[in-house]
Amino acid sequence: MDRDPVCGRKMNRNKAYITIDYKSERYYLCCPLCQAEFEKDREKYLGKDGGNSRGSRARGGR
Ligand SMILES: [Zn+2]
Repeated sequence: MDRDPVCGRKMNRNKAYITIDYKSERYYLCCPLCQAEFEKDREKYLGKDGGNSRGSRARGGR
């Protein structure tokens, strides 16, 4: 299970609206709106889980 960095929603990667590879990370966006947000300010979402500390923990890399 991965997470949409924009809205913080947990998401099945197989059901992601779009997958974006950026700086060796892979991001899964749930909808066109989240994609637009991500594209608009990518740096904001890099390496973060949407700034949501609740229940966040390190994923096992890849
Ligand atoms: Zn989203």
